[in-house]
Amino acid sequence: MEKISIIVPSYNEEQALPLLYKEVKQVMQQMKKVDFEILLVDDGSKDKTLEVCRKLSTKDRHVKYLSFSRNFGKEAAIYAGLEMATGDYVTLMDADLQDPPALLKEMYRLIKEEGYDSVGTRRVSRKGEPPIRSFFARCFYKLIHKISRTEMVDGARDYRLMTRQMVDAILSLKEYNRYSKGLFNFVGFRTKWLEYENVERVAGETKWSFWKLLIYAMDGIIAFSTAPLWIAVFVGILFCFISFIAILVIIIKTLCFGDPVGGWPSLVCIIFMVSGIQLFCTGIIGAYLSKTYLETKKRPIYIIQEQSQ
Ligand code: UDP
Ligand code: MG
Repeated sequence: MEKISIIVPSYNEEQALPLLYKEVKQVMQQMKKVDFEILLVDDGSKDKTLEVCRKLSTKDRHVKYLSFSRNFGKEAAIYAGLEMATGDYVTLMDADLQDPPALLKEMYRLIKEEGYDSVGTRRVSRKGEPPIRSFFARCFYKLIHKISRTEMVDGARDYRLMTRQMVDAILSLKEYNRYSKGLFNFVGFRTKWLEYENVERVAGETKWSFWKLLIYAMDGIIAFSTAPLWIAVFVGILFCFISFIAILVIIIKTLCFGDPVGGWPSLVCIIFMVSGIQLFCTGIIGAYLSKTYLETKKRPIYIIQEQSQ
């Protein structure tokens, strides 16, 4: 019998997990031909998430869990889950029921019958989200689409069903700075996209503030594009060109009209602008360097404190 592993990264989800378990159980009962395992990854929660995991796992042999020694972030939880999964197919699902478990039936059918390697989901609406967040999210996707060769789909969720072959390909990417939305597309394979309307979280609250999302977006750009590094080159060339013209103008002006001293306010403005641009470009290089620095340390992506038998 084929097995589907359901990975659920959970951070402070004591209220949502039992509700998720109930819904997943229903889907499991409808899909009689497949075996299931539910892998709960407790990402160093500060509430009773770990206790809920322990309880569910003693009650049901399909449920396994592992618990991190601290909060390592969703990307680390996803990676740990993928490493632990033993199924022929693997799916990632948020704990808050924003990824409807009922879609699993259709996802499995598409892989089995239509020969896809992966079925991803994307929400077509962003209902219930602050408008400013939606606006910046759209801008991010437009930008990354232009500057990265790895395609990223607007509204794509991490919720997807993948074959073992694709999971192994993702596991072979051992980078420390993980950006799953990009990694899924980087490995390729035939992907079908299912669309659905945004669902709001059942319980608990979102772990992503605006700033966290902004930093996440910048991580994504740094991980999947080197275009920002070229800004320094192009701005440098542009400024060399401008200064060359300016020198010519000044030489001609001095030769024709003499050399009255003046214009220092404009000089100060230019110094400020040019040094600002230099710092900005150094900052971009620093951002890439810091990622390389973290990568060379080869620190573990996560540390497990407790695991089900
Ligand atoms: N999550 C996690 N570690 C974190 C933050 C979030 O494992 O540091 C999990 C969280 O429990 C949830 C999923 O990632 O299952 C998505 O988080 P959330 O629902 O807060 O994000 P949103 O849907 O608001 O983008
Ligand atoms: Mg959510």
